[in-house]
Amino acid sequence: MTMCPKHKRIKSRKTIQAVRKSYCEYCGRQATGEPHHMFTVGSGGGDVEYNLIQLCTCCHVAVHAGNIQRDDLLAIVAEREGLSVDEVYRLNRRAMGWDV
Ligand SMILES: [Zn+2]
Ligand SMILES: [Zn+2]
Repeated sequence: MTMCPKHKRIKSRKTIQAVRKSYCEYCGRQATGEPHHMFTVGSGGGDVEYNLIQLCTCCHVAVHAGNIQRDDLLAIVAEREGLSVDEVYRLNRRAMGWDV
């Protein structure tokens, strides 16, 4: 019997598709590609609505370069989800298994 290794990370295509938009949620320009994970998958961030934001290429590069702060993105997502920034923080930290 051969072992079938399980993928460590489960990518939720469905959630990513649901969050995906044709415009950048930061600047409103046309956007392509996958949404950005505000809390990186590497750090335990999940494929969940409150961790994903659609960005255009320019903003995406700016975020990864540190020119756009994560707090700014959290505020946008909080408004979209109808939550406070604190709540979005807490939901993400909980999803990452951190004590909040
Ligand atoms: Zn943008
Ligand atoms: Zn990104």
